[in-house]
Amino acid sequence: MKSLAGKVSIVTGAGRGIGRAISVLLGRSGSRVALAARSESQLRAVGEEIRDQGGEALVVPTDLSLDEEIERLVTATLEKWGSIDHLINNAGWGKTGPILKAKREDWDATFRVNLRAPMVLSQLVLPKLMEKGEGAIINISSVSGKSGQENTAAYSASKFGLIGFTESLYEEVREYGIKVTVILPGFVDTPMIPPIKRLDRTRMIRPEDIARAVLFVLTSPITSCPVEITVRPQKSPYV
Ligand code: NAP
Repeated sequence: MKSLAGKVSIVTGAGRGIGRAISVLLGRSGSRVALAARSESQLRAVGEEIRDQGGEALVVPTDLSLDEEIERLVTATLEKWGSIDHLINNAGWGKTGPILKAKREDWDATFRVNLRAPMVLSQLVLPKLMEKGEGAIINISSVSGKSGQENTAAYSASKFGLIGFTESLYEEVREYGIKVTVILPGFVDTPMIPPIKRLDRTRMIRPEDIARAVLFVLTSPITSCPVEITVRPQKSPYV
């Protein structure tokens, strides 16, 4: 039997990059997957890929900066499959640039997608996981959530916050049998990373490597919870 047979997972930022890889692997592992992001065409392509491999997918175009759309994502998933087992908070966004030139509305947008949406989604799905006495919430932070760098202040602050949220939530719900995990990737070869001359993309982490870390958490024994996983490129991408 497939390792996640019968499970239901919500994956945010599912249209490309890391979220796409997570969704495809979960689908292949037997989980039904609700795909959320703003770009419907990208979600549809991922849904097709999952169905082509024999899996089940639900496309829910969602702007995670809006509470009513987050609520609609959870409602649509429950209407379709009647339960939720895994929430993968993967969507992320940030603008680089010096703090003095930053627009405050960009900070707000970053905090809403990277930090607030995972908190709202967790609040909405937790009752279902608690009822079952099992399940998992996995948050995709970043190595930028442990060390700040110039020109990434809001992004880094949001990713630090996501680690704090994860640690608190884990303490709050661990007795319910719910796994709560934060994954901290280094450079991953996705559209988020623009072409930069001194970065060798072939040395970056593959999105599929992060998907494997997610599957590792979801298939971990009930007696343990991998609370924090850092995944760094084996060889430095800086050339
Ligand atoms: P990506 O290729 O740019 O994908 C980001 C995803 O988030 C897209 O599907 C995007 O879809 C979605 N998203 C952005 N804003 C959204 C919004 N307002 N509402 C709904 N969905 C939204 O980035 P990625 O590299 O795969 O990143 C995935 C996660 O890994 C992010 O949290 C990122 O911070 C983290 N991470 C990435 C790296 C890296 O090197 N790539 C390293 C560390 C951590 P739409 O634009 O269609 O909405």
